[in-house]
Amino acid sequence: MSTAGPGGAQFPQISVDHELCSGTGHCREVAPKLFTLRDRRAWLVEGASPADFGDGLLRQAEEACPWFAITYTPKGDLCGKIS
Ligand code: SF4
Repeated sequence: MSTAGPGGAQFPQISVDHELCSGTGHCREVAPKLFTLRDRRAWLVEGASPADFGDGLLRQAEEACPWFAITYTPKGDLCGKIS
């Protein structure tokens, strides 16, 4: 289940920074129903929503990326992250 945040954005969110992604595929190994690889970059599987996956799996996918290309924002963290 997702939650609407400021401006109507839906949470949880997960995104891939294609400037950082090198196509290693670690995210897809962790969450093959959420990530796919195309043109040596990770993309969200068409029709897949992070709201359909558990918080643990989404965190695991974010942490699996060796280039910190994945940003996961849980629905309870609408202010973003401090890192
Ligand atoms: S783990 Fe990171 S670098 Fe590798 S494909 Fe996924 S987003 Fe790209």
